[in-house]
Amino acid sequence: MTATAASEFLPFVRPEIDADTIAEVGKVLASGWITSGPKMQAFEDALSRLFGGRPVRTFANGSATMEIALRIADIGPGDEVITTPITWVATANVVLAVGAKPVFVDIDPRTRNIDLDAVEAAITPRTRAIMPVYLSGLPVDMDRLYAIAGKHRLRVIEDAAQAIDSRWQGKRIGAFGDLVSFSFQANKNITSVEGGCLVMNTPEEAVRAERLRLQGVIRSGMDGMDVEEPGGKFNLTDVNAAIGLAQLGRLDAITARRAELAEIYFRCAADAGLAELGIELPLPLDPRQATTNWHMFQVVLPTARLEGGAPQARHNVMQAMRERGIGTGVHYPPIHLFTYYRSLGWREGMLPHAERIGRGIVTLPLFPAMQAADVERVCATLSETCKRLCK
Ligand SMILES: *Cc1c(COP(=O)(O)O)cnc(C)c1O
Repeated sequence: MTATAASEFLPFVRPEIDADTIAEVGKVLASGWITSGPKMQAFEDALSRLFGGRPVRTFANGSATMEIALRIADIGPGDEVITTPITWVATANVVLAVGAKPVFVDIDPRTRNIDLDAVEAAITPRTRAIMPVYLSGLPVDMDRLYAIAGKHRLRVIEDAAQAIDSRWQGKRIGAFGDLVSFSFQANKNITSVEGGCLVMNTPEEAVRAERLRLQGVIRSGMDGMDVEEPGGKFNLTDVNAAIGLAQLGRLDAITARRAELAEIYFRCAADAGLAELGIELPLPLDPRQATTNWHMFQVVLPTARLEGGAPQARHNVMQAMRERGIGTGVHYPPIHLFTYYRSLGWREGMLPHAERIGRGIVTLPLFPAMQAADVERVCATLSETCKRLCK
């Protein structure tokens, strides 16, 4: 694989499905059993081994996985769930879907993850769970998180959608903790095209997950069927599971390659003088006890210093990068300022760090097939663009 030429468009993410994986999909399609079956079972077994033998069940997508996690934790009307506004909107939407109330607290601007001091300050008698998100794969302080949850007797539903193969003090995210949800959507580090999995604590929770993903149906004998608790249609097909299983086999290589590219990013960012331009880089590799899987390499633009100011400045930078053949993304605008969430009472000024980061954050290209020259081109182009657009 060679670096993309300057004339070739570099997207911010590109899924890679190898020939072996495509062959596996063909075998499933020809097998006579194409929906949930032996491949799903094999994928779940492999995931359970990855997470230290904990019970794991798969679902149609990461959003459904989180919704089922909330239901397993018996969270519903009247309950509050504390979460971050800088995440994919699914995180908060699923809390609404079970009838509970998402309570947003501000982020730590260095990690861009939920601020655990703010979590503690937001706990009320109605709080039932904390839903942290590991943005770009960077875990929060897991010792502190579980100390807070233990002290206040709260469930933790980890939105680890982006964090497969991330670690805390050397322990894999998902191999410990309460309910841990992953996504295998197309842009994630490993994909099943769409899909997700939930790591649970007990066989009883796993049985409940199986029922909730298939209409709540309980089968017995040759012909028995009952429903004690209605569920939905959230099962993962064997076609998707075959893709996920093949990708899982490449997880070590994928994580290692992303770490190399992140290191190259830091070097090129220094060479291009990005920090001097006021561009905020991610926390450097292994700064504390958390190890990210580098799901994304995100910078925060100095929007106040750029032509147009926020929110126009980021649009201008992204547009200029696109014209020079480089794709970028925004992950994420703060959820509390979306129209629907404003209608629930959320306002500008309530979560200042999240609002500032949300206005300036940009995701730069990062995927395993990229080469050092691609990273150099991204950093040089971003530097030139910001210099040109500086007030
Ligand atoms: C991808 C993602 C989800 C949702 O996963 P889907 O599989 O797209 O439903 C939830 N939260 C975060 C932080 C994500 O990145």
